[in-house]
Amino acid sequence: SKPVSEGDPEMFDILQQERHRQKHSITLIPSENFTSKAVMDLLGSELQNKYSEGYPGERYYGGNEIIDKSESLCQARALELYGLDPAKWGVNVQPLSGAPANLYVYSAIMNVGERLMGLDLPDGGHLSHGYQLKSGTPISFISKYFQSMPYHVDHTTGLIDYDNLQVLAKAFRPKVIVAGTSAYSRLIDYARFKEISQGCGAYLMSDMAHISGLVAANVVPSPFEHSDIVTTTTHKSLRGPRGAMIFFRKGIKSVTKKGKEIPYELEKKINFSVFPGHQGGPHNHTIGAMAVALKQAMSPEFKEYQQKIVDNSKWFAQELTKMGYKLVSGGTDNHLIVIDLSGTQVDGARVETILSALNIAANKNTIPGDKSALFPSGLRIGTPAMTTRGFGREEFSQVAKYIDSAVKLAENLKTLEPTTKLDARSRLNEFKKLCNESSEVAALSGE
Ligand code: PLP
Repeated sequence: SKPVSEGDPEMFDILQQERHRQKHSITLIPSENFTSKAVMDLLGSELQNKYSEGYPGERYYGGNEIIDKSESLCQARALELYGLDPAKWGVNVQPLSGAPANLYVYSAIMNVGERLMGLDLPDGGHLSHGYQLKSGTPISFISKYFQSMPYHVDHTTGLIDYDNLQVLAKAFRPKVIVAGTSAYSRLIDYARFKEISQGCGAYLMSDMAHISGLVAANVVPSPFEHSDIVTTTTHKSLRGPRGAMIFFRKGIKSVTKKGKEIPYELEKKINFSVFPGHQGGPHNHTIGAMAVALKQAMSPEFKEYQQKIVDNSKWFAQELTKMGYKLVSGGTDNHLIVIDLSGTQVDGARVETILSALNIAANKNTIPGDKSALFPSGLRIGTPAMTTRGFGREEFSQVAKYIDSAVKLAENLKTLEPTTKLDARSRLNEFKKLCNESSEVAALSGE
C-alpha cells in the first residue's frame, strides 16, 4: 500500500504541521518528552497487527509465540531497570496509559465505595488520585466508584503535610494511600508514607509517573523499598512510548502475632483487573516500544541525561529566582518548577497564552491554596523535553528571559485598559514584537 504522503495528503499535511510545531518550539511541559527513533520504529511496527488477549504463555488467540517473547522481555527489563527481584516483585506492562493503570489498581484491591487518599489536585496531585470538588462532586469515575479524601501540602512551605495526612488517615482509614504527584518539585518521603499507611492498615501505592526516569537513574529516591504497588507512565521522564506499567509485590505481606503468614495476593488481582477486568487485547507495538525504551534507560547515557534534567531544572529555578520570581516551595529537587505568580498582576493562564504565541509551551497550574483552576496563579515548567534536545544552562537562562518578557507583557496588557486607539495600537505592536521573537525561539530550539 501507499505511504501516507501519497495515500492521504490531508492527514500527511497535519502530520507535517505537528512535526514542524514540535521542531520549532520550546516544550516546557514537564510531562512531555521526545522519544527515540528506535521507540518510534516499534510503535509503527507489525507488532500492532496482533491480537493477544491474556498473558505470556496463556493467550486467548493463537500465533502469539513471538508476541510472548516481546512481552516477557519487556517485563524482565522493567524489573531489572528498577533493581527488583523477580521473586519479590511482578509487573504488568499492558495498561494503556497512566490514569487507567491507577483505576485498575484501585479496582483490583478495593470494592466500590471503599476509601482512598491522594494529594489534592490543586496542591499538585493527579485527577486519577481520587480528585473531587470541595463540594464533594466527583470529577473522574475513580471518585464516583470510591470514596476519596484528599491530603494537602502545607500552604506556607509548599511541602506535603505528612503530619496532617497521618491525622486524617487515622480518622478516615483508607484502603489505599497514593504517594505521587504531577506538580510537586520536591522529593517524596516514602518512608514516612509507609509509616502512615501501615498505621491505618492501607496499601501504599506510589505513582511515579513524572519521575520514573529520574528514579531509574537514581537521581531521586526510589519508591520501591517502601511501597506495596508502584504505577508509572512510560512517556514522561522515562522517554518511552505512551503507556503505563503496574509493579506489585509478591510473597508475604505480613506475619500475624500468632505467626501466620499473610500473602500479598496482588499478582492475581492486578493481572485480572487489567485483563479481563478492564482491557481487551494489549497494544503489542507499545509493549515492544516500551522494551526498547527500558533498555535505553539502563545505559550510562540515560543516567547522564537524567542528571542533566535535574541540573538544568535547578539552574532554571535559580535564574528565575534571581529575576525576582517566587517559586512554590522555594525551588526544585527534580525536573519541574512551579512559578508562583500571586505577587504579580497576572495569572498563569494569561502567561501561558502569551508564551504560546512565542512558541513556548508551558502549563498554567494551581498553586497551594489557589482559588481558581481556570485562572490559577501558577505556571508549571519542566526540563525533560528540552534536555533531550540538548538544552543546557545557556539556553535555559535565555528561556527564563522569555518567561520574564511574557509575564511583563501580560501585566502590561492587563493593567492598562486601552483608552485610545493609539494606546491599543502601541500595545498590539508590543505583542507583535514579542511574537517576532518567536523566530529567536525557533532558532534556539534548533531550527
Ligand atoms: N499519574 C500522574 C502522577 C500523572 O502526572 C499523570 C499524567 O500526567 C497520570 C498519572 C496519567 O497519565 P495518562 O495521561 O497517561 O493517563
